[in-house]
Amino acid sequence: MSSFLPPGSTLGILGGGQLGRYMAIAAQQRGYRVAVLDPEPDAPAHQVAHRAITAPYDDPEALEQLASLCQAVTFEFENVPAASLEPFARRGVAIRPGPRALAVCQDRIAEKTLVGSCGIETAPWRPIRSGNDLGPALAALGGSGILKTARSGYDGKGQARVESLAAAREAHARFGSVDCVLEGIVPFALECSVLAARDIHGVCATHPVCENAHSRHILDVTICPARVGEASAAAMRERTARIAEELGYVGHLAVEFFVLPDGAVVVNEIAPRPHNSGHLTLDAADNSQFEQHVRCVLGWPVAPYGQTAPAAAMANLLGDGWMAGEPRWEALTGIPEVRLHLYGKAQARPGRKMGHLTATAESVERAETLVRSARQALFG
Ligand code: AMP
Repeated sequence: MSSFLPPGSTLGILGGGQLGRYMAIAAQQRGYRVAVLDPEPDAPAHQVAHRAITAPYDDPEALEQLASLCQAVTFEFENVPAASLEPFARRGVAIRPGPRALAVCQDRIAEKTLVGSCGIETAPWRPIRSGNDLGPALAALGGSGILKTARSGYDGKGQARVESLAAAREAHARFGSVDCVLEGIVPFALECSVLAARDIHGVCATHPVCENAHSRHILDVTICPARVGEASAAAMRERTARIAEELGYVGHLAVEFFVLPDGAVVVNEIAPRPHNSGHLTLDAADNSQFEQHVRCVLGWPVAPYGQTAPAAAMANLLGDGWMAGEPRWEALTGIPEVRLHLYGKAQARPGRKMGHLTATAESVERAETLVRSARQALFG
């Protein structure tokens, strides 16, 4: 199978949420066909795909069908079971990012081990393979920490802050006694992410650093460039490129960092895909994160990844804003600087990502004020 796939080829996407939808649109704009596998019949990416396969991610027949349709396959989430990749490997479909990158990034123990092996700092951590590991790990980390399941956690799910051995035992049992990591609590000043794309030739482009504010463990607002010193920003971009290199990565990834009060940076986690904090690249970058992802997956060279405005901001629109009724869309007609993105989800639920707002401005403070006040006007 050739590394470069010409327009007219079909890109397969496992996962049909908003990330899959934007990937599909980016590929279609360049003349590719897109086939999506997602269990939800009305998934955001199903609404735009040429072929929509509605089935669970581990359905052998559906995976065979997708593999028979596409020449390259990619993913909008990292928790892809290794067995689901077999039909693609057997047929010589280009799997990008590759199985090793996925395997590392879906297991916090493997991920932190890899980051450490690159000589890059993470939060202090200990693997928890059984309940017996909890006592020594908690003692080593100073008596408190955050217990995280090694696999399948996201948006704060599968995480518990623990201040005692009893609390750690209770949380570990609640998680089903699965493999976990215990992390020391990092007294960070800021949370940041670096968006990066790496092509089949090993060329990696990083975007200026994003600064992220969370609410109830879910990303709330991103601004770019982050309010960090030049040395911290350069360190985060350099470390991200080094991690991508070490993973032999092809496609777009994001590395989340904690920035300490003295400017030192430590890796929190790696997202082997486009990332929520990268949504502002849809409106404020030379190329969006989705464009970069599909370029790299389809064998094109990575493209310039600069920001096209002095500052940009993004605010998530969660389903909570729909609970009192339909948002006041007309309010946005008075704020032309703010762009609305909606993902085509019919059912709003608390915590569900329904869309986002972006704005560009002369300063991050102004861009942030624009998206926050527009969201306030929508939700009242
Ligand atoms: P994660 O899913 O690992 O990105 O964690 C979700 C959020 O929990 C992070 O964005 C931080 O706000 C917080 N958090 C996670 N790990 C730590 C840590 N070791 N120290 C302090 N805060 C953390």
